[in-house]
Amino acid sequence: MKVVLQNLTKIFPSRDKKAGKEVVAVNDFTFEIPDGKLIGLLGPSGCGKSTTLYMISGLQKPTSGKIFFGDDDVTELSTENRGIGLVFQNYALYPHMTVKQNILFPLQNLKGKDKLSKEEMQKRAYEAAKLVQIDELMERKPSELSGGQQQRVAIARALVKMPRVLLLDEPLSNLDARLRLQTREEIRRIQKETGITTVFVTHDQEEAMSISDMIVVMKLGVVQQIGKPQEVYDDPTNLFVAKFLGTPPINVLEGKVKGGKVYIGEDAVLEVSGVADQDVVIGIRPEGFELDENGPLHCALSNVEIMGRDVSIVSTNPASVNPLIRSIINADNKVDLGSKTVRYSVKPHKFFLFNKETEERIRYEVK
Ligand code: ADP
Ligand code: MG
Repeated sequence: MKVVLQNLTKIFPSRDKKAGKEVVAVNDFTFEIPDGKLIGLLGPSGCGKSTTLYMISGLQKPTSGKIFFGDDDVTELSTENRGIGLVFQNYALYPHMTVKQNILFPLQNLKGKDKLSKEEMQKRAYEAAKLVQIDELMERKPSELSGGQQQRVAIARALVKMPRVLLLDEPLSNLDARLRLQTREEIRRIQKETGITTVFVTHDQEEAMSISDMIVVMKLGVVQQIGKPQEVYDDPTNLFVAKFLGTPPINVLEGKVKGGKVYIGEDAVLEVSGVADQDVVIGIRPEGFELDENGPLHCALSNVEIMGRDVSIVSTNPASVNPLIRSIINADNKVDLGSKTVRYSVKPHKFFLFNKETEERIRYEVK
């Protein structure tokens, strides 16, 4: 089931009538979510992810714009009639019910033509439980389960009605690191097995990148960029997106373009064509540095962190916006810890220029 968001906008009135301004939580969001895909809705806290999800679910009504499931306009449809499955950060299971009763609950509320027989309900509940691998735990109470198991029950409960669209709002936030990894892979597996169009909300870029077919990066209610995770990482449209994706994060430096060369301080680090002379903001991915004893970029060496396969070289440069510059290089490269300076050349496809005022990307060709 494809999901179409058409000029979706949500404005909340100010809480303080006199002083406050209204909040544009989601601003003119247009996107066609392809059938059967998992979309990661990504951005910092307060950027409008949940509000977008709640509008898709029907829990909140858009101020303007439309939502379609397939060809059906569902904008005015109630949550119950949209055929969605919802999972939140806190699992919200009924504590006095067993796992089985929790999963059965949404089916028992079906009315009219959707009403199911007892046998059919049991069958569906076991199928959903099997899918999330909790069918052994059906007689337990939520308090007898780990956080990860509870979240699986919540997912089974969302799946049992065979939703047309699955909506997940930060479903892994309450899990510890190991479970978070495991459960996100689980969600991906279930999504692939069922083929349900899924929107997965998270503020964690690594989480979104790792399981999404496409990511949508939002900032202050405005969509910044939509694309496959790798494409967005490799080709960010502005400084915000470049900074939001990647661990360790992109290195940001101040510099200038003059006579077809990009300067960091006195160092002419790259020759480019098609860019007018100007001050710029430079983004260099950690993997965009090459150790080079004749390299143009000089940094002061602070430290080398061993990461196993790779090493992370920590250095400083007066032009750097952050206190430290972090490069990632293969551990086979030996770094002389005794030297004061580390010299780099840069990889052009990992090296981005941004307009100093607008922070939009400046495209260049390598000479
Ligand atoms: P996210 O899920 O990305 O953290 P939200 O969608 O929850 O962000 O919120 C987006 C913006 O809308 C925030 O500025 C938030 O304070 C505001 N907001 C959310 N819900 C309400 C509400 N019910 N009333 C007023 N403002 C709200
Ligand atoms: Mg939220």
